[in-house]
Amino acid sequence: MKKRISIEELVLGVKSNNIRLLGKAISLVESKKPEHREQAEILLKEILPYTGQSVRIGITGVPGAGKSTFIESFGKYAIAQGKKVAVLAIDPSSSLNQGSILGDKTRMEELAKDPNAFIRPSPSGGFLGGVANTTFETMLLCEAAGYDLILIETVGVGQSEVMVADISDVFLYLKVMGTGDELQGIKRGIMEMVDLIFINKVEEENITLAKNTKLELMRALYFITHKIEDWKVPVVLGSALENKGLQEIYQKITEFVALKKKKNIFDVERKIQAEKRFEYWVKELILARTQSSEALKKAYLEHKKSASELERNPISEAQSFVNKLFKKEF
Ligand code: GDP
Repeated sequence: MKKRISIEELVLGVKSNNIRLLGKAISLVESKKPEHREQAEILLKEILPYTGQSVRIGITGVPGAGKSTFIESFGKYAIAQGKKVAVLAIDPSSSLNQGSILGDKTRMEELAKDPNAFIRPSPSGGFLGGVANTTFETMLLCEAAGYDLILIETVGVGQSEVMVADISDVFLYLKVMGTGDELQGIKRGIMEMVDLIFINKVEEENITLAKNTKLELMRALYFITHKIEDWKVPVVLGSALENKGLQEIYQKITEFVALKKKKNIFDVERKIQAEKRFEYWVKELILARTQSSEALKKAYLEHKKSASELERNPISEAQSFVNKLFKKEF
């Protein structure tokens, strides 16, 4: 029989950056089984004092924008600057087909081989299909393991983007030219969340188009006030494939983090993020509770059915179900 790994072993394993044990610790934190949740809590409590030292970078962009190519090049660049890099990718498709975007072995192949890099897909969706997941907790484990930069990749679809913005210190938008998504970006409110823009795939033949796209973006950004008043969102031109623009974007990220720290925003924002995280878990755990017994599951379905058959208002149904839940009628 396989020997069970104790929490102490996991804590030591994470702290000494033992990749196998770090992987196991992440799986424990991701597990939805109640007995695992208890252990995960102990684990997270133990490693908490060793967390918080990294810079957390969220990276978004439409599929095909070049996120994984960028992360590979940028990750290698950062490693060359003496950093250790962890990559967490949130894959909205992974809950549908167990495979993930990282299932494709060609993604970030070189970075994956580097001893100073750690790559891990994050399953999307909470207990009942909520948006957020355990990416934040996985990030803490990576920090305890000594990673200096955590790159969190999200596909530019739906709310996962907001979730990633809510757990990062820096939010980077990868843009491709000629797709007109600068306008869409504004519509979807992404521009308000973005700290830096990297126009990718800028090569010899399209440099003029790239410069025009940059101007267009700058014009759009002019009307948007960044949450840090003196920060002008930089638009960097580059090519992930040809390793261009990496030094500049690295430099801008460093400047942005320095400005946040100077203005005392860095820690304040992390506190706000932790509060949001708390709120998220409250909602998530209440939702999980609704499925914690047969009686509850039954009542949940009955109320839902009554709402869907328009016998009563959805809000009234929800209200009476929640009343029951809190009165512990079950
Ligand atoms: P993702 O879906 O955003 O992760 O995009 P990928 O990194 O998978 O890239 C999508 C396609 O664009 C791939 O065929 C890449 O080789 C290509 N690509 C990525 N970056 C560049 C770049 O800087 N220049 C060019 N020409 N192609 C790139």
